[in-house]
Amino acid sequence: MLRFFPAPEIKVQMKNIIDKLGMGYIKPDNVVVFKSEGSTSNAIARCWELPRIWQEALTIEPHYVIEFCSERYNNLSEEEKEKVIIHELLHIPKTFSGALRPHKGYVNERIVSKLHKAFKDSV
Ligand SMILES: [Zn+2]
Repeated sequence: MLRFFPAPEIKVQMKNIIDKLGMGYIKPDNVVVFKSEGSTSNAIARCWELPRIWQEALTIEPHYVIEFCSERYNNLSEEEKEKVIIHELLHIPKTFSGALRPHKGYVNERIVSKLHKAFKDSV
């Protein structure tokens, strides 16, 4: 069975990364961080969009959910966890529109490594 839990410890780390990397366009209050258990996907984490029609229908601001799949995420080293968070944050566009940016051109190992190094250097 698929279950979701809030993950405040990941949210704290996420806010830290947003601050250190100057990703001021991301509104942390509008990013919900969940851990999941029992997900059938092979992903370590996923960033979920909120399409504009839902924003209008529910009259809410753009939001994102970042889901961390416990079975795979929990076993990673701290460095790998930081990289996963950076990877997911890179899917959020500068417009914070509720839509997602694709991997191509925006999210890849090279960009993640570069930002992760900047994050470590800033600590
Ligand atoms: Zn991705």
